[in-house]
Amino acid sequence: MTVSIALFTQDLRLHDNPVLHAARAAADQVVPLFVLDPAVADAGFAAPNRQAFLADCLADLDASLRRIGSRLTVRRGEPAEQTARVAAEAGATTVHLAAGVSGFAQRREARLRALFGDRLHVHDASVTVVPAGRITPAGRDHYAVFTPYFRAWQQAPRRTVLGAPRAIDTPGGLGGERPAPVGPLSPALPPGGESAGRRRWRRWDVDGYAAAHDDLAADATSRLSPYLHFGCLSPTELVERALRQGGEGAQAFVRQLAWRDFHHQVLAARPDAARRDYRPRGDLWHRDEREAEAWRQGRTGYPIVDAGMRQLAEEGWMHNRARLLTAGFLAKSLYLDWRIGAAHFLSLLVDGDVANNQLNWQWVAGTGTDTRPNRVLNPLRQADRYDPDGAYVRRWVPELAGLPGRSAHRPWPAGADYPPPLIAPDALADRFRRARGLE
Ligand code: FAD
Repeated sequence: MTVSIALFTQDLRLHDNPVLHAARAAADQVVPLFVLDPAVADAGFAAPNRQAFLADCLADLDASLRRIGSRLTVRRGEPAEQTARVAAEAGATTVHLAAGVSGFAQRREARLRALFGDRLHVHDASVTVVPAGRITPAGRDHYAVFTPYFRAWQQAPRRTVLGAPRAIDTPGGLGGERPAPVGPLSPALPPGGESAGRRRWRRWDVDGYAAAHDDLAADATSRLSPYLHFGCLSPTELVERALRQGGEGAQAFVRQLAWRDFHHQVLAARPDAARRDYRPRGDLWHRDEREAEAWRQGRTGYPIVDAGMRQLAEEGWMHNRARLLTAGFLAKSLYLDWRIGAAHFLSLLVDGDVANNQLNWQWVAGTGTDTRPNRVLNPLRQADRYDPDGAYVRRWVPELAGLPGRSAHRPWPAGADYPPPLIAPDALADRFRRARGLE
């Protein structure tokens, strides 16, 4: 009887899971294993919202595995050590793992390699569609600009989508842990897990995406990001299905999934970009904790910014357009260090992801991959364009619910109950432009 371990990480699903598929093909029995790593919490990456979502994911995965004769073993500790311990208990000889991109994932893989040698099998194209490093421009180890990356990405071969296994035989007698209860949560978190993710995917209509994805009040994006972050859904399966369906909405959706791969391949090549400027511009960030706190609390005096920040607190999620303009407001208008904003996002986002969060923040701050690093988004113009009726603001800023139409974006004379703008509308770009020597 041969036994293999399928070590789950950011691939918490049965459908289209190369790790599970290979572990099953390699042995008579499989131990599906997840290790809760205290180092994630110690590094500040285990926000309560994501911990709660993860607990849902693990419970759902266990329930799905039990339906096909298996079960999930959960352990707590250093992942390589725990995996070795389970391998000894179960008599497992091989370990299967999805390739990750963060510095953390790379160190985990190296420790597993040290213990298991060539008995560790790492499977790519699980967390991303195109593996990080698979396509590169001549003479470089990664793409630094999205457009040429996307051209190459569209031409890159994709693996075949795998079905969910119908039966898995798992050795008994492996005790396990449960995720510990976590701290205070956003009140309107989505449910975690592959079942919830597939349900959401089935119900969402991609057709309207191209036209409505930037309309804040329409809320017409997929909201699949947390399911992608935890791997409850396979990005390859999403891309294949969208391309089969075709149409403008599907094309636009696939392009966003390519952005996700793009940021992953940047981080894989430059793990330090999680903390350091990808392209340093000599910024000497303004320091003002009062301003930073007003931004966190959604009390900047700019209703469109405040609406986004309050959606984040309430749902652990924010619309992409709101992420762009709230981040732009912090990094370009207040000219506060992007790391302050990125840390706050990571403390709440249920999809909070080192690659996507840090590199989108850097893109906005002009220290990342944006080819126009000096652009400044004007929150009032953004508001008029992407929330033309003020409906998004009225939904999230109840103090302004009585202001009709786009007057909700400029409440200052009328809104006695509303804070004055942290920075005057005609000075929104001043700090940044002066600091970058643009005037
Ligand atoms: P949809 O519009 O339906 O897009 C489908 C999927 O494509 C998303 O689920 C996501 O996986 C991917 N995607 C879309 N836009 C981007 C993008 N710009 N970069 C990378 N992938 C993208 N996304 C995260 O998953 N985690 C984060 O921590 C994160 N932090 C961000 C921080 C800032 C400052 C900004 C500007 C963007 C951030 N994004 C992040 C990207 C994007 O805002 C979210 O992925 C998107 O809003 C999620 O909603 P959705 O699933 O409805 O997206």
